[in-house]
Amino acid sequence: MFTVGLTGGIGSGKTTVAKVFRVLGIPVFDADRAGHRLLAEDRSVIEAIAKRFGNEVLGAQGIDRQALARLVFHDHDALQALSAIVHPAVRQAFRNWAELQRSVYVVMEAAVLVESGGHASLDRLLVVNAPEELRIQRTVKRDGTSREAVLARMRNQATDGIRLAAAHWVIDNNDSDLVIPQVVAVHEALVKAAQ
Ligand code: ATP
Repeated sequence: MFTVGLTGGIGSGKTTVAKVFRVLGIPVFDADRAGHRLLAEDRSVIEAIAKRFGNEVLGAQGIDRQALARLVFHDHDALQALSAIVHPAVRQAFRNWAELQRSVYVVMEAAVLVESGGHASLDRLLVVNAPEELRIQRTVKRDGTSREAVLARMRNQATDGIRLAAAHWVIDNNDSDLVIPQVVAVHEALVKAAQ
């Protein structure tokens, strides 16, 4: 199966772009949701996390994500250790899922993809790009959260420059460019590339 990564910084519009791919009939794998499911249900992931972080991260159903977040949010090494457990498991879940799809190509939507090196195992990478200030405003409005909370989450992600350097295509999701025609153009190029 021909595989395409879809990533971008917080509030850039990944989910919005993913919706357009779904309308075009392309299956989209939501890596963040898959990660949450693994933390809730996957015995080997749960055991590996409990071994590294202690039983206090165990909750009523699998891992207590809030307890885990408190441990890794300001601790780079802990976040790296968690990523080393979760990202390979998400990649395997994606491969299993991709094999079951019947389409010209499939998309994996992930907030963290270039940071984990996960894009290297995909055939193409698509990055959604939007000015930082706009991303902050959109996320504050969507989540009803504070500007500081959004900035803190941004600091745990790759910079725009690193993401853009790895991209085969960039969708500009600012206040002036239309998104749907850009996605349709990329889709047409992907259909050709996948054949
Ligand atoms: P996250 O990484 O936080 O999950 P994301 O990259 O998936 O974010 P979206 O949820 O798609 O981003 O977009 C963030 C918010 O901005 C949403 O509320 C969405 O409806 C809005 N938004 C996205 N694109 C546009 C646009 N072109 N014009 C107006 N609002 C937009």
